[in-house]
Amino acid sequence: MQTTLLSALLETTTGQEADEILRNCVHCGFCNATCPTYQLTGDELDGPRGRIYQIKQVLEGSAPTRTTQVHLDRCLTCRACETTCPSGVDYHHLLDTGRELVEQNVTRPLRERFIRGVLGMLLPRPARFKPLLRLGQAVRPLLPAKLKQHIPAYRKSGRFTATQTHARSMLLLDGCVQPALAPQINTATRRVLDALGINTVIANKGGCCGAVSFHLGAPDAAKDFMRNNIDAWWPAIEQGAEAIVITASGCAPMVKEYGRLLADDPAYAEKASRVSELARDISEIIAAENPASRLKRPGHQTRVAFHSPCTLQHGQGLDGVVEKILEQIGYELTTVTDSHLCCGSAGTYSILQPQLATSLRDNKLQALQSAQPDLIASANIGCLMHMMPHSERPMLHWIELLETLIPEGST
Ligand code: SF4
Ligand code: SF4
Repeated sequence: MQTTLLSALLETTTGQEADEILRNCVHCGFCNATCPTYQLTGDELDGPRGRIYQIKQVLEGSAPTRTTQVHLDRCLTCRACETTCPSGVDYHHLLDTGRELVEQNVTRPLRERFIRGVLGMLLPRPARFKPLLRLGQAVRPLLPAKLKQHIPAYRKSGRFTATQTHARSMLLLDGCVQPALAPQINTATRRVLDALGINTVIANKGGCCGAVSFHLGAPDAAKDFMRNNIDAWWPAIEQGAEAIVITASGCAPMVKEYGRLLADDPAYAEKASRVSELARDISEIIAAENPASRLKRPGHQTRVAFHSPCTLQHGQGLDGVVEKILEQIGYELTTVTDSHLCCGSAGTYSILQPQLATSLRDNKLQALQSAQPDLIASANIGCLMHMMPHSERPMLHWIELLETLIPEGST
């Protein structure tokens, strides 16, 4: 499409990138067909084509309004539109630019500012989040059912002792909320990697990947989290860690973007780029290790419905990778209709946009449960926490299924 961006913007790298993205869009609207929010509201302004148009107007000098902000807020950043787009439009980077500009020019209502502020102060900071969660879990048995479902039950981390020191070593991202909500996921990962001959190192001073702050419209805070992680991980990288393993698919796309986001920071650009090169979703690691040769499910089939998070299939282009692993090791996968659609979790989206998120969750659970699976597996803590209290089937991270296949006594 033709563009006439403000000349001041065109002098910046961000403006030039946005201009190029806009020019790639031919306004065909194919992307609307797979956009969850467009499907729910039927409003052109709640679809990717309409959002691109609204961002274009802002970049060309129109003053953004609260209405612009609302329509951009409703975007899940699920990136289903990118998978569908025949022109390869880099929608999410354009959205990042548009959101930042709108955030600078439109003041949010006080209530929204408060909720966003609280989320930004709590979620990415385990030292604050974990004690609060434990307090909630302590009083959970006394709460009415409706409140109880918002507080996940306490989970033990489980035991991990390496069987031996392996020649290969990888860094494991601990993250922010996952160690408090579901510490067993990373324990399972360490056990599985150990069974595959790989040591795992956790950098104690590492923390949130930055995604929470970034998607709450606080890019500077997000970059501070990125720099903190780079500092925490660097010694292990220098000692030869061959990958940075990430078990929450919501975090992996962010770490894979460190290089791009810190490209203008002379002190961190090079290291950030190296970190992004090393970042891997756990499914990429496992798929490369021929897991079926060492972990094989004996006996009868267990039927699994796999929920592929948007951050896995659209954000990282890893559609089908986990499904193939699970089938190779002996699980039977059930068919899930509309598997490309988001479950509505999307980071803090389920808290900030509860109505849309609830509709998407209910639709997703119906699709996952329709073939009567024995259990539902996923790859992201956010999706699990969003759906688990409402699921009729047990839900878990898929790596926990592999953990159950480790031969007795090997870890
Ligand atoms: S983003 Fe892609 S699919 Fe959507 S309108 Fe533009 S060119 Fe068409
Ligand atoms: S990222 Fe998802 S919700 Fe946002 S416009 Fe694209 S398909 Fe729609």
